[in-house]
Amino acid sequence: MNILISACLCGCTCRYDGKNKNSIDLSKLDGHNLFPVCPEVDGGLSIPRAPAERVGPYIITNEGNDVTEQYKRGAEIALKTALENGCTVAILKARSPSCGKGEIYDGSFTHTVIEGNGVTTELLEANRIKVFTEKDFDTSNLF
Ligand code: SF4
Repeated sequence: MNILISACLCGCTCRYDGKNKNSIDLSKLDGHNLFPVCPEVDGGLSIPRAPAERVGPYIITNEGNDVTEQYKRGAEIALKTALENGCTVAILKARSPSCGKGEIYDGSFTHTVIEGNGVTTELLEANRIKVFTEKDFDTSNLF
C-alpha cells in the first residue's frame, strides 16, 4: 500500500522548533511504500518557524502573522503527492494545525485542545483519502 506520511514522523527535523517527532514505530509499516510530506515547509515556511494555531479558517502564528496561504499551498502539495502516488491512506502528526486529525489546539497557545482538523487533513479527507494520526493508526485498520 502507498501511504502519505508526515515527514516529521519519519525523522525529518522539519517541525516549527527544528526537531522531529519520532513517535511512530516505522517497522510496523514494513512492506508499505511511504511518501513523506511536510505541508508547512512545502508551503514556503522556514525551519525553525514561529508556532501557529488554527483560528477558524485562518492559521495565525504566536506573533500574530497570518500564514493561512502557506498552509493552504502546503495542503495542495500534499494532496498532489498523494494523488500522483496512489496513496489512499495518510498517517499524519496529531494536533498539528496542518496535519492534525480530530483534535487541534484552539488558537490561544495555551495547549488547549478542541475538536477539529488541520488544513492538510481537511483537504485530504475532502478528496477521500483516509487520514489517521500516529496515535490511532493500526496496520489492521489501514485497509
Ligand atoms: Fe510538517 Fe506536518 Fe510535521 Fe508539522 S506536523 S512538521 S506540517 S509534517
